[in-house]
Amino acid sequence: MSQGQQERIVVLSGPSGSGKSTLVRLLVDRAPVKLVMSISATTRPPRPNEVNGTDYWFLTDAEFRKRLAEGQFLEHAEVFSSGFLYGTLSSEMDRAWSQGGWAFLEIDVQGAMKVMQQYPNAVTIFLCTPSPGEFERRLRARGTESEEVIQRRLATAEKELQLSDRYKYVVVNDQLETAVSEICEILKAEEKARNA
Ligand code: 5GP
Repeated sequence: MSQGQQERIVVLSGPSGSGKSTLVRLLVDRAPVKLVMSISATTRPPRPNEVNGTDYWFLTDAEFRKRLAEGQFLEHAEVFSSGFLYGTLSSEMDRAWSQGGWAFLEIDVQGAMKVMQQYPNAVTIFLCTPSPGEFERRLRARGTESEEVIQRRLATAEKELQLSDRYKYVVVNDQLETAVSEICEILKAEEKARNA
């Protein structure tokens, strides 16, 4: 693995309801560089249809903390004050790099800040919705969360938005296709800069 390969990290954050998951799928298919999705570990229980090792590594609290103590995580955070832990295993980065790809991390702002500290050259992208009202509408349209969870996510989104200027790029997900193209252009330019 070349030294340069280890610089290849893309971090994408944005409030749930910013249309992240659809965009992530499209990006993995269409990006002009090879994106290898980092599979996060979490203590959150799987939702119906979620598969261990594909969507997440679903760990017990004890297993998560054991790996944490062993230094296996690049970053970790408790997301949405939910009591559930989420984290990026360093082995996921190695997996991406050994395949000659960019490690693609879809993580929250707390995690992103930690990645930025360790990898200042990481390509960090904050995805936001055109307006706070639109964000709330999308969150509710999903219909998967309780009112309490929705309120918590709205409060978190507000806080996250305040940290968006720490990211290298802010992309507004108004039109999905436009946002995908915009990120593809960013990746093309970043890859070019690394090969220069
Ligand atoms: P969900 O429970 O809906 O799958 O994910 C909730 C949030 O956890 C998402 O906004 C996502 O960005 C964040 N998340 C997922 N994996 C990680 C991770 O490895 N580290 C951090 N810090 N956040 C994560």
